[in-house]
Formats: sequence, structure tokens, C-alpha cells
Amino acid sequence: MGYQAARAGLAWLEENRAGDEEIVAIVETNACGTDAIQVVTGCTFGKGNLFFRDFGKSAFSFLSRATGRGIRLYARPGCIPPSPEHLALMEKVADGTAGEEDLNQFADLHRQRTLEVLRKPASDLFGFKKIVISLPPRAQIRNSQPCSRCGESTMDTRLTETKEGLFCRPCLEETGQRTG
Ligand SMILES: [Zn+2]
Repeated sequence: MGYQAARAGLAWLEENRAGDEEIVAIVETNACGTDAIQVVTGCTFGKGNLFFRDFGKSAFSFLSRATGRGIRLYARPGCIPPSPEHLALMEKVADGTAGEEDLNQFADLHRQRTLEVLRKPASDLFGFKKIVISLPPRAQIRNSQPCSRCGESTMDTRLTETKEGLFCRPCLEETGQRTG
């Protein structure tokens, strides 16, 4: 699903953008599809052009950094009908009760279902919606300094002033310190 979304999103941007503008991806799931988004589009956390919204949706947006214009793809409900046989085998594999025959059958079915997804036109899998988003600023190099409690080096934007000094987020949580 992630591979299909990334290919379709890039194709749309290619046809609708002027010049060589940096691409931004917004993913609404941290499931496996997001790995394909990173590989295919080159948008990654480290580059600051991959954003995660924890909505639990197979929805992926691709935007031009310059214009904020782009496209959001959201999985059509029922686009991949569940296969009871596949699910039953998956459970066996997960709880370690699958025999050799089960494992072979699972591998075959899994491959078959993957190919089904890859062979479908992206428009069968996803709805498309044009969007405009004001994007967060580009990734910045921030300074780090030690947390007053645990002593670990922490990005200064993630430290909070408390009565006992600058606390990192885990230390804030552990001590129940109020954020200012
Ligand atoms: Zn700390």
C-alpha cells in the first residue's frame, strides 16, 4: 500500500509542480507502509521532510515544500478484501503453531496477496484529494545541553525550566514536574 501510494503521489506531484521543489511526506500510520514511503520518495525523519501524525490511517500526503500544495491519498475501505485463510495462517505463524506445510502455504498466499495489491491501479486502492498545507519550518540544527536531573544531552527545544533546573521530557514525567 505504501509503495503504491508513494508512486502515485510522486506521479501526481511531477505533473503538477513547477521546477525542482523538495517533496514532503505526511504519513498517518507508523505501520509497514511507511517504510515504502521513505524508500520510494526519499522523505525521512533525518531530512526533516517526513511527518508522522498518529491517526492510525493508511493515508499518505505528498506535498511540494515550495507551495504546500499536494495530494492526500487515503485507503478506500474494503480495497483489499480480507482473506480468512490468510488471516488464520498468519495467526498460526504468529503464535508459533504453524507446521512446515502451513509456512509454505502462508508464504505463497502472502506473496499472492502482495502481488494483488501491487497490480491494482492506485485509484482502486486510494481516494485522492488535493490539499494545501502550511508546512512546519525546515529542520534546524539545534543546540543540546544536559538535563539537570539525568545529565543526558538533550535538544534545547525539548528541555523545560523547572524549580530544580532544566528537565528533559522523561524526567518531567517521572517527577511529575509541571511544565511552565
Ligand atoms: Zn533527564
